[in-house]
Amino acid sequence: MNTKESRTESLVYAYKNGLYVNLTSQCPTACTFCIKFSWKHQYRSHNLKLTHEPSVAEVLEAAGNVSCYQEVVFCGYGESTYRMTEMRELSDAFRQKGIGRVRLNTVGLGDLINKRHIAPELGSFLDSVCISLNTADPQQYIELHRPLPAFRDKAFESVQNFIRECVTHVPETVVTATDLPGVDIEAVQRMAASLGAQFRLRPYLDNYESM
Ligand code: SF4
Repeated sequence: MNTKESRTESLVYAYKNGLYVNLTSQCPTACTFCIKFSWKHQYRSHNLKLTHEPSVAEVLEAAGNVSCYQEVVFCGYGESTYRMTEMRELSDAFRQKGIGRVRLNTVGLGDLINKRHIAPELGSFLDSVCISLNTADPQQYIELHRPLPAFRDKAFESVQNFIRECVTHVPETVVTATDLPGVDIEAVQRMAASLGAQFRLRPYLDNYESM
């Protein structure tokens, strides 16, 4: 295992053609497959362990010149829908800098987090939402995602409603499943289709990589 680590926190990081924004360390779940603990909050030589919740100005300063990126993605080691206002402001700012596409990667519990239906608002500033569903089985959903007590009872139903509403309001909605042992991937694919969303299988990352 390569454990090359960075000590300086990264509010943004580049991956392929995208600029990824690490906006929060808050999570409604403690997913069994989450790499942040086994990778010590590192991701491809970036330290994603935040010392505080960054401001819009701090993220923009960290991003600098974004002209080389095709896409901005809200995706760190936390759930960005805890910070709806900052996401919207950053999306607007990045578009003014010429970014043509903005995406959110989410665990899909933003309605419960914000205590309201957020898909219409997301649709006003995002091009794409990728929702980490991972299973079509309610019991396995709880086992895999380990929602915090405040979310546990309503999580599976809420994420499905959220997917349906994103399909209505956001130009592109993709349900993802991590390739985990014991998961009926075809059932997740069928559930995604029944909710009107696209589907993508993601590889299970269990070994630390650095580039
Ligand atoms: S929502 Fe994402 S960051 Fe949070 S525990 Fe799950 S995989 Fe990790």
